[in-house]
Amino acid sequence: MGKDYLIRAVDEGKNVRLFLARTTLTVDEMRKRHNTSATASAAVGRLLTAALIMGADLKGEEDTLTLKLIGDGPIEGIVATADAKGNGRAYPLNPQADLPSKSPGKLDVGSLVGKNGYLEVVKDLGLKQPFVGRVELVSGEIAEDLAYYFLKSEQIPSLVSLGVLVDKDLSIKAAGGVLVQAMPGADDVLLEKIETNILDLGPISGVIESGVSLEYVLDKIMQGKDYEILDRKDLAFKCSCSRKRLKGILAGFSDEELNDIYNNEGKIEVRCNFCNEVYTYFPEEIAEERSKKP
Ligand SMILES: [Zn+2]
Repeated sequence: MGKDYLIRAVDEGKNVRLFLARTTLTVDEMRKRHNTSATASAAVGRLLTAALIMGADLKGEEDTLTLKLIGDGPIEGIVATADAKGNGRAYPLNPQADLPSKSPGKLDVGSLVGKNGYLEVVKDLGLKQPFVGRVELVSGEIAEDLAYYFLKSEQIPSLVSLGVLVDKDLSIKAAGGVLVQAMPGADDVLLEKIETNILDLGPISGVIESGVSLEYVLDKIMQGKDYEILDRKDLAFKCSCSRKRLKGILAGFSDEELNDIYNNEGKIEVRCNFCNEVYTYFPEEIAEERSKKP
């Protein structure tokens, strides 16, 4: 199957920008780390795929993008982040939340996310203030919510397709996404043609499962129109946490607080929300870390 990756392309007339991503292994790594239910895997996998695609559009090496989805459904919320280098991570607030399927093979992501909530996009571009855009949820199905965000907040007509196929043993069979964005003054005929071609392909998760390359899918979407592939990059689940970094956070606690925890629990443990990695410390190392700070 090979590594997860993403390609970015533009048509010859520069009417549309296209992003295609295969995220099967990345979503499966998320699933293993958070032990998500089938429907939660689909929901988090879709948002993580979207974050990786949008991350590919960041300009600076240190820029990051965060997608936060909050709704009134049982999963309560999902956070996904990605950088410009193809690293992504994500977590749900309630990983075990699940719902029966609406129809065979169709996981009910919309109900798991719920309504009466919002999708927030935060782009940290290394400036004083990050860019923050927020829209209310349309359906909780995530792709529709993102398309609405692009139109409302960034004024960019977009086609968004996101899909995750979950196997019987809960492992991820296939995951991926497509984003097509119209450039200002884009040719409507070409856009309609692309939309039809994407619909003809069927659900993106099924296309990925069939094992074809993203380049092949792009060629099907563009059918006879000239285009150029601008970029190809590997994608992976990768968290930016480290033992040292989380120790720095603990240094904010007093000796008394840390000794209390240590005496009661027999250890001092910190769990990273994003990747579920657990780091264990002795009170002395944290005191030492604190003493290093001015
Ligand atoms: Zn982490």
